[in-house]
Amino acid sequence: MHAEIVVLPGDGIGPEVAAAAVAVLEAVATRFNHTFNFNEHDIGGIAIDRHGEPLPASTLDACRAADAILLGAVGGPKWSDPNAKVRPEQGLLAIRRALGLYANLRPVRTHEAALGASPIKAELLRGVDFVVVRELTGGIYFGEKTRTADAASDLCSYSVVEIERVLRSAFQLARQRRGRVTSVDKANVLETSRLWRDVATRLGRDEFPDVALEHQLVDSMAMHLLAKPREYDVIVTENMFGDILTDEASMLAGSLGLLPSASLGEPGSVGIYEPIHGSAPDIAGKGIANPYATIFSAAMLLRHSLGLEAEAAAVEAAVHAALDAGVFTADLAVAGSAVSTTQATAAVLERLQG
Ligand code: NAD
Repeated sequence: MHAEIVVLPGDGIGPEVAAAAVAVLEAVATRFNHTFNFNEHDIGGIAIDRHGEPLPASTLDACRAADAILLGAVGGPKWSDPNAKVRPEQGLLAIRRALGLYANLRPVRTHEAALGASPIKAELLRGVDFVVVRELTGGIYFGEKTRTADAASDLCSYSVVEIERVLRSAFQLARQRRGRVTSVDKANVLETSRLWRDVATRLGRDEFPDVALEHQLVDSMAMHLLAKPREYDVIVTENMFGDILTDEASMLAGSLGLLPSASLGEPGSVGIYEPIHGSAPDIAGKGIANPYATIFSAAMLLRHSLGLEAEAAAVEAAVHAALDAGVFTADLAVAGSAVSTTQATAAVLERLQG
């Protein structure tokens, strides 16, 4: 097949990990006889420096015309003045909104070889395999903001349509997995959560009676995620709760550097694939960033945007094999045994050759 892939490397370690994933996609194209065209565009801090805005129209136009988008990360100390008019993260929020990417899929799986990198006991971690579906274009991150000298507010609002579409994504995903959905809210306090719970209950009853649905309050969910992570299959929640729970969940896998994500809209619309971590300014430019999260994101791109399941599985198997062989970057390794970003990527490429 032929596919046009837009690459948005961004800032910090973004370009380093994006290059690793592009190398893997190029190897997939060779091995499976596809043609992937890669076009790089600016987003985030680098786009502010070059174009004066975090999401230039040229980037958005290219993304709209693409089959899929691979993104590194944005942000960094250079652009982090809280009073700045434009910030790198605005580019991310704007592109998700502009492309209608309301469902953010974040799979969390543990790897036997990397269990030691997690602060959680290994016996709780074995066999953990769930997906968090986070609502991405609504809620408090997008609501009206106010600020006076001595007060501030952020509005959280959700419509039934916004809740229904992300819940449908979660229920459909559960049907392809183990058939269980945990809907997370704060219905004992928040009106948006009470609406969320009502919609989840109705959809579960009317459209997905074959899927087991449970509701969980977000505060106790934060606890259960560490105490019994194996019990979950698909966890669906609103924007901010999902943001926080997925960073917590990354500690199950051992590092932020292992967790990929896909941001999807209506079937047929272009998706964005990116690691869940940020631009890691503390290690940027050192060549030591873990590329696996971005390579796993490339596998999700193959699966969800290009429909190439065998290719996606081959990439995931190659990363698992590299992990099994103990090819760890510094975030996963015990002192002294770490490999570089390039070496970790080479280990995946070698195992991908089949
Ligand atoms: P971060 O995810 O960038 O880093 C947190 C810690 O994890 C750091 O110690 C970092 O070195 C480490 N880490 C992250 N990814 C790693 C990898 N692939 N390999 C090895 N170690 C890795 O979060 P932060 O420090 O809170 O934020 C830094 C910047 O990134 C900020 O400007 C923030 O706004 C931005 N950010 C961007 C995104 C995004 O682009 N989607 C997401 C989160 C944060």
